[in-house]
Amino acid sequence: MSIDPQPQFDLSFNNTLGVPARAAWYAELHEASDLPLLVRWAKEHDMAVRALGGGSNLVMHEQVSGLTIKVSIRGKTRIDSGSSRQRWRLGAGESWHETVVDLIEQGGSGVENLALIPGTVGAAPVQNIGAYGVELADCLYRVEAYDTQENQWRQFTREACEFGYRDSVFKQQENRFIITAVELDLDQEFQPRLSYGPLQELANLPDLNARDVLAKVIEVRQSRLPDPMVLPNAGSFFKNPVITSETYSALVKNHPNLVVYAQPGGWKLAAGWLIDQCGLRGQSNVDGVGCYEHQALVLVNPKRAPAASIQAWQALVQGAVLERFGVELEPEPRFWA
Ligand code: FAD
Ligand code: NAP
Repeated sequence: MSIDPQPQFDLSFNNTLGVPARAAWYAELHEASDLPLLVRWAKEHDMAVRALGGGSNLVMHEQVSGLTIKVSIRGKTRIDSGSSRQRWRLGAGESWHETVVDLIEQGGSGVENLALIPGTVGAAPVQNIGAYGVELADCLYRVEAYDTQENQWRQFTREACEFGYRDSVFKQQENRFIITAVELDLDQEFQPRLSYGPLQELANLPDLNARDVLAKVIEVRQSRLPDPMVLPNAGSFFKNPVITSETYSALVKNHPNLVVYAQPGGWKLAAGWLIDQCGLRGQSNVDGVGCYEHQALVLVNPKRAPAASIQAWQALVQGAVLERFGVELEPEPRFWA
């Protein structure tokens, strides 16, 4: 095998929450062809395997068991034959944001609303990343992954990915599939998606194009969200709960100013608003873990406290929202122990 797994590898700077963590075993994957050997090595040593991208959606415990495989496969190739869409094949280790910028520079569109989401291309299908009314599923053509259970390569069409709201087959069957390449279909003809408040003002811009939307999304995100390099965080810490019409009717009686959005299958509550109403925005515990002052949904960890402190604050927030609204908040990041 061309890659030797290393023991006790420091992951403290491989997770954007900044928690102190070590991988029992760690290897960096540059070539997809090395993956079956690495998985076999882990099985021979009776270890679980996990794929690591940019660590921007993870809460790591101080000791992470098994073999952590950092996916660093590069590559961006246009593979269509000049039809009405651009098809791109992307290595799973490419930076998602840099890829968005590159593809728009190349005249494609459809991913501009997803700019500045941290992490890698390979992690994007895992939670079907979404922002400003667009999700990865809207432009995904195919995913290539290694099935660590069946020891075989698999191709997933968009349907086979079983995408949902921040959900997919890769999240449902956590750690089973390691994604090595993603293929996207981009539009050649720009179709603006401006339904979210901060983007609506662009609607009147003459000759609006994908670059304008890209620039606006970057500007809005930089003004509202904390940069993990400056203030460690993992983005939205809780999913927005989706409730039934009956629950909505009952809730709105007691909370007439409830913030909700219609969603297939019910109503989506803004989790950040629920937390804010509990008076927790800008509050923190003794370790400094708390709710970001400009967006309560983002948990921040300025002192790089360990996972236990994050989970203590998580439980406090969940308890407060449950008591006030009777709604359970589900964490969005994955937990690694
Ligand atoms: P990691 O955190 O490394 O991993 C996350 C999960 O994906 C883990 O279960 C991991 O095992 C799995 N995984 C990673 N790589 C692979 C692979 N190659 N194959 C199989 N599984 C893999 N998310 C949104 O949806 N929308 C947003 O707007 C958004 N904004 C954010 C803003 C900030 C400031 C931050 C810190 C996070 C934000 N996120 C957002 C969350 C996060 O950036 C995304 O979920 C991102 O896709 C995670 O990528 P990653 O490479 O860091 O994954
Ligand atoms: P925001 O625009 O202040 O919106 C607050 C919440 O209301 C969001 O959760 C969003 O749901 C919902 N919302 C707002 N306008 C909506 C509309 N027109 N239709 C349906 N739902 C609407 O949120 P923000 O914190 O500044 O984030 C902006 C975007 O980036 C959001 O889409 C958010 O999901 C995304 N983001 C995600 C993460 C993450 O880690 N997952 C982190 C930062 C930002 P949705 O979340 O369903 O869009």
